[in-house]
Amino acid sequence: MSNASHAELPKSVDPYRLAEQASTLEGVVPISGLGRFCEAIFGFTEGAVCRVKLSFFMDGERRRVVSGELEAPVELECQRCMGAMSTTLVSRFTLGLVTSDEQAQQLPKELEPFLTNDFTANLWSMVEDELLLVLPPFPLHDRDECPAREDLEAYEPDSSAAEPVRTSGENPFSVLADLKKTKH
Ligand SMILES: [Zn+2]
Repeated sequence: MSNASHAELPKSVDPYRLAEQASTLEGVVPISGLGRFCEAIFGFTEGAVCRVKLSFFMDGERRRVVSGELEAPVELECQRCMGAMSTTLVSRFTLGLVTSDEQAQQLPKELEPFLTNDFTANLWSMVEDELLLVLPPFPLHDRDECPAREDLEAYEPDSSAAEPVRTSGENPFSVLADLKKTKH
């Protein structure tokens, strides 16, 4: 994503017209302006913004489509130490614009429906919904950065060899297998 625009993304647009004009909108949405999302995260830096790029177009079947990219720096609650964990949420999505449930059902599988009323769309809600979708269900610090790592190491005498926990497949050591369960 480019640094082209630091202007706020417009809230209310006519997405059908934008699709017919093959328009691209770039801008930012202040995270403080997304109430439901703010409640779902641990916190954010004052003034933090979600960077957004939305491309509106008509596909080969003349469906109105918006494809988007988002990037939002946030703090989530690490589920190991229950402390703040800084991370950047990234989302890419492609939505088909529809005005009814019937239209939504006719979309091909690769398009998620975005329901609009009266040919206006609230882009901030669109951004908020997509951010909520990419929230990890079980955020964890990297092992080396988690303040709770000492607790883990107490169960794991040879902590220098701890990395195999990340590997997939059968693990012959039941201690490591137990740790694996707590990790996911
Ligand atoms: Zn942690």
